[in-house]
Amino acid sequence: SFNANVAAAQGALNAFIVATPERALEAAEAVDAARAKGEVLGKMAGVPIGMKDLFATEGVQTTAASHILEGFVPEYESTVSANLWKAGAGMLGKLNLDQFAMGSSNETSYFGNVISPWRANDGGNAALAPGGSSGGSSAAVAARLCPAATGTDTGGSIRQPAAFVGITGIKPTYGRCSRWGVVAFASSLDQAGPMARDVADCAIMLEAMAGFDPKDSTSLDLPVPGWEAGLSDDLRGKKVGIPREYRMDGTDPEILASWDQGIAWLKDAGAEVVEVSLPHTRYALPAYYIIAPAEASSNLARYDGVRYGLRDLPQGAGLQDMYAATRAAGFGEEVKRRILIGTYVLSAGFYDAYYNQAQRVRALIARDFEQAFEQCDVILAPTTPTASFPLGDKVDDPLAMYLNDVFAVPASLAGLPAMSVPCGLNSQGLPLGLQVIGRAFDEQGVLNAGLAIE
Ligand code: GLN
Repeated sequence: SFNANVAAAQGALNAFIVATPERALEAAEAVDAARAKGEVLGKMAGVPIGMKDLFATEGVQTTAASHILEGFVPEYESTVSANLWKAGAGMLGKLNLDQFAMGSSNETSYFGNVISPWRANDGGNAALAPGGSSGGSSAAVAARLCPAATGTDTGGSIRQPAAFVGITGIKPTYGRCSRWGVVAFASSLDQAGPMARDVADCAIMLEAMAGFDPKDSTSLDLPVPGWEAGLSDDLRGKKVGIPREYRMDGTDPEILASWDQGIAWLKDAGAEVVEVSLPHTRYALPAYYIIAPAEASSNLARYDGVRYGLRDLPQGAGLQDMYAATRAAGFGEEVKRRILIGTYVLSAGFYDAYYNQAQRVRALIARDFEQAFEQCDVILAPTTPTASFPLGDKVDDPLAMYLNDVFAVPASLAGLPAMSVPCGLNSQGLPLGLQVIGRAFDEQGVLNAGLAIE
C-alpha cells in the first residue's frame, strides 16, 4: 500500500514532511466518477503528485521546512496547487526542502536531511545530497514514490536537484506560474515548475501549473501554449549557443565531457552549434547572493510570532522580546545568515555599494543573454559544476555550497526559462544533468532541445 511504501521510504529518504494519501485517493475517485459520467478529464487526471512544502495547501500543514511555521495550517490554497487539482491531480504529501528554500543540499531543513536514493559505485556507502532546495521533490521522483512533484527555483532549486538525481525539471519564464500562496524567498526570482521523469511529463505538468493570475502582480498575462502538443526533437534550422564563459576552472572534467556529448546529440537532431559569449557570467553568483538575501530579509520580516506558527513568549516579556525570542528559536542558521546579509546590504551606508551595484550587474547579465539570443535559439550548458556530493561535505562551508549554483543563477537573474535534463552517469555511477536556457517565453524551444538530449 502507499502507506507502507511511504513509511519505508520515509525511513530511507525522509522525502516527505507530511503524507496525505487520502487526498490522492480522493482525486482518483473523482476521476473515476467523472469518467463514468463521460466528462472530459483534465491533463493530470488521477496523477498522484508530491507538493513541495513551500506551497500553501488548505487544511494541510505548510512549513517551508522551518520550525517557525511548524503547525501552520493555511486557510487558502496556492494558485499553482489549485491549478493542479483542477487538472485532476491528487496530493500524495508535502515534500521536504531546504528551510525557506535556502540551500543546495537539503541540509537546512528543520525536518532533517533528505537522502538521495543514489549511491556511488566506489565501494563506499556515503549518503548523498539530493540537491536543494527541492531535495524532497527530487528524491521522491527519482525513487519513484511519485511520478512528478512541484519544485520552486529562485537560483537553481529545480534544476540542481533534478541534475543530482537524474530527473528532469524546468523553471519557466519568470511570471508563468503564479507566486500567490508560495512562501516567498526572493520575490523577483521565485518561480514554480515541475520535476518529473522526462520532458513530456514536465510539459504536461507545466501546462497545468502555469497561467495568468490577477492575485500575483508579476504574473504574465499570456495564454498557456500547448507545450505537450508542440514537442518535437527535430532541431533542423535551430541554433544552439555554447557560452564560452561557462568553461570554468573547477568544473569536473566529466561534466565537461557530458556537455560535449550533449552538443553532439543536438547536432544529430539537426541543430547548428555556435559559440556565444555571456561576458558578465562571473559576476552572477555574487550578485545573486546579494539580491536574494536582500529580498529574503524583507519577506521574512513577517514571521514575528504574532501570525503563523511558532510563538515564543517568555514569562513577563514584551512585544520586542517576543519577536526576538520567536525568531531566534524559529529560524535555522542559514536563514539567519541570509537575513543578516540581506539587512546589511540594504542598510543606509552600504545600499549603493552592494544592493544597487548588484542590480546593475543583474541588468548586464540580462543584456548578455539578449545579445547571445541574437545568434542562437537556445543555450546549452552544464547544470552544476559537479555531480552530487556526500551529505555533510559542504555544510560547514557556505561559500563552497553557494558555488554549486554558479551555472544556475544567471538564468534566474535574467528571468529566463531553463531546464535540466539527465545526461548519463559519471564514472562513479552518479547522474549528470545538462541545462538548456531559452529566450523569455520560449519554454517550447527549451523543452524541444531537452527532448533531443534525453
Ligand atoms: N541554492 C540557492 C540558494 O540557496 C538557490 C535556492 C533556490 O533556488 N531556492 O539560494
